[in-house]
Amino acid sequence: MSKRDYYEILGVGKSASADEIKKAYRQLAIKYHPDKNPGDKEAEDKFKEAAEAYEVLSNEEKRRRYDQFGHAGMGGASSGGQGGGFSMDDIFSQFGDIFGGGFGGGFGGGGQRGRRVNRGSNLRVKVKVTLEEVATGVEKKIKVAKAISCDKCSGSGAASGSAPTTCPTCKGSGQVTRVMNTMLGQMHTAAPCPTCTGEGTTITDKCKSCHGDGVVRGEEVITIPVPPGVHEGIQLSVNGKGNAGPRGGVPGDLIVVIEEQEHELFTRDGNNLFFEQHISFIDAALGCSVDIPTLDAKARVKIDSGTQSGKMLRLKGKGLPDINGYHKGDLLINVQVWTPKHLSSEEKKTLEKLRESDNFKPKPGTKDKSFFDRMKEYFD
Ligand SMILES: [Zn+2]
Ligand SMILES: [Zn+2]
Repeated sequence: MSKRDYYEILGVGKSASADEIKKAYRQLAIKYHPDKNPGDKEAEDKFKEAAEAYEVLSNEEKRRRYDQFGHAGMGGASSGGQGGGFSMDDIFSQFGDIFGGGFGGGFGGGGQRGRRVNRGSNLRVKVKVTLEEVATGVEKKIKVAKAISCDKCSGSGAASGSAPTTCPTCKGSGQVTRVMNTMLGQMHTAAPCPTCTGEGTTITDKCKSCHGDGVVRGEEVITIPVPPGVHEGIQLSVNGKGNAGPRGGVPGDLIVVIEEQEHELFTRDGNNLFFEQHISFIDAALGCSVDIPTLDAKARVKIDSGTQSGKMLRLKGKGLPDINGYHKGDLLINVQVWTPKHLSSEEKKTLEKLRESDNFKPKPGTKDKSFFDRMKEYFD
């Protein structure tokens, strides 16, 4: 019997991706599985054939060789006819990869023992916060559209006056034991019950409101505690506030993604804040006091006489709190000397008198670093 082309066996094209190959094999493996086709020799052969094709096409190196040389290039292990040297044992060793978890895990269950507990899915919401809210922490109340427990049936999924009954197939255990005849003898495997998909109960008279799901679409107002010090993109998890679990299952979580709103006065760098303060060149020369805004109150700051444009002043602890500790960032004030754009003739005369004064001629010293040097100093 001549061997069929591996791509043809799996029903995929030559350029199929690893994912497509996996999917195609998974479907064939379920269709021709010996459990579903007891005593059917043809199904068993198809099952082995598919497993062999997958064994080659799922391996990059083997697939390349097969593409180049066909069956002739496969040599050793898979070259024999009729199933080749490919045992049932080899086939089952693939299942962990294909179905995840132990054998049988792919047939509706999760591979865990005993009854299956339905879990609702997680929900993601975005929440906007201002820098003021970052500084103090805040409680956000938001309305979330989600799956909620059906109140007509109290989440059971059974019509009123009825109740879910113990599954007759698995007697409530959620699992069935399968006996398979393999080349290695009989194998006992536990699989999720096909009747109740592992839940252990079945519903004969379904609730009209939720169609037996036990959950319906609804909404809930949820209070989200946002701790101080959060930043853009950080994710907070509120346990049990996601979608309700079907038929009395456990709810998923609510994942909150923080979006930081831009502030009109401050820019943020980690826990530090930057603020730009403009002063007149007269204030820079004579010195002055200015009120600087902070996130809570104003702070009065002294500007020394002879202050150069670009000087950085630091208000310790007036930045943002650290999300993990007690440390607080600083508020950094970048002092910019502002040059007037329009002058009256009177003002011009006054300034002209000062133009030739020796003290007004720039004499930058080593201490009068540029703004960029100061920034560099700050970040080093
Ligand atoms: Zn059952
Ligand atoms: Zn219901």
